[in-house]
Amino acid sequence: MGRIVLNRDKCKACYLCIDACPKKVLEADSAVNEMGYYPAKVNSEKECIGCAICAKVCPDIAIEKVYYEK
Ligand code: SF4
Ligand code: SF4
Repeated sequence: MGRIVLNRDKCKACYLCIDACPKKVLEADSAVNEMGYYPAKVNSEKECIGCAICAKVCPDIAIEKVYYEK
């Protein structure tokens, strides 16, 4: 089981992470961040497997931490 820490105010809404997540954990938020973008957000945390693909593809290092627990 995994968990991510996504800093919504660093996100520029490219949605590469949404496309890359194999478990479809992420979606676009309906509220803007401080830069005026609709950031990615976690929609189904229980599905996260902690693979860190989202963090690797993020060009803005907005996904700051990925945890993996057995
Ligand atoms: S890849 Fe990074 S910048 Fe792009 S939507 Fe995801 S968190 Fe935001
Ligand atoms: S760690 Fe893997 S499963 Fe979890 S949100 Fe990121 S890409 Fe999806």
